[in-house]
Amino acid sequence: MRGIVIIIGLFTLSTTAVPASVQARKGRRWKMPSVHPRYYRPATKGFRDRSCLRMLRSLKVPFHKMRKVKGIATPVKIIGNRIGRTVYKPRYTRNVMVMDCRLALAMRRADEIFRINGIRTVVWSNFYSWRRVAKTGRLSRHALGLAIDIHAFYDKRGRKLDLTRDYETGLGRGRTCEGRAKTRKGRVLRDLACDFDVSNLFESVLTPDYDKGHRNHFHLGIFHPQDRKRYRLFRTVLMEVRGAMYKWVWSRPKRAFYSSRRMRRLVKARWRSRRSWYRWRKQLKRRERRKRQKRNKRSKRSRRS
Ligand SMILES: [Zn+2]
Repeated sequence: MRGIVIIIGLFTLSTTAVPASVQARKGRRWKMPSVHPRYYRPATKGFRDRSCLRMLRSLKVPFHKMRKVKGIATPVKIIGNRIGRTVYKPRYTRNVMVMDCRLALAMRRADEIFRINGIRTVVWSNFYSWRRVAKTGRLSRHALGLAIDIHAFYDKRGRKLDLTRDYETGLGRGRTCEGRAKTRKGRVLRDLACDFDVSNLFESVLTPDYDKGHRNHFHLGIFHPQDRKRYRLFRTVLMEVRGAMYKWVWSRPKRAFYSSRRMRRLVKARWRSRRSWYRWRKQLKRRERRKRQKRNKRSKRSRRS
């Protein structure tokens, strides 16, 4: 039993990892990273991740194993549009939840993130599709079944958080990831993006800040099984525009997947940040009210005179 646990642990360590420290190291000259082309190839032929399947089964995610899907190492099809407690609603009805087992596992872990932020439903458009990244010609993570595109969320009261409408771009240029969104929905979307970022589950978290092609969705990609170096090449582009991301490359990988302790810490941090945000909002509103009152007074005076 212990042996199995250790093997699973090693597997998770080897397959997913990403840095928490965000800043590039000072004094180190930055170089364009060289990427071995195998990272953009389909995962190993004939390689089946049995430990992943076992884990997915133990987490009670209902799925079918699939025989062969071009590009995917361990293809699975999720049944019932549900991973964990989160419902996955397809944006187009024809979409089927076919993906690599490891992505299903990552989304099962991300369930906690949705729960913290009060999200119950995810509207997605894309898990697997055989295609290349525009302009570069390399295979997209979607072609390997290792990425998801999310267009909207529904919270527990059934309110829709739409990425096109509610995501506030250009936040978080300061020290924190969260930035200061003006609306509650913008705030939640921002928190979600930041939680995806710190969760170390994903190799890339692309938001509408990234480029025009992503203006209406979050793109979450996980690591390639052969990512030995586990550098986060396309690290979250939460605040940067396209091309500025390369400076993140030097951040060191750390272990992924939430332990319960880490989860608790994250929840606490989330509440703290939310409290301070509410306080800030209150201040902002008070200030605006005062300004308005002043303006009114002035206009009254000018009217009298
Ligand atoms: Zn995508």
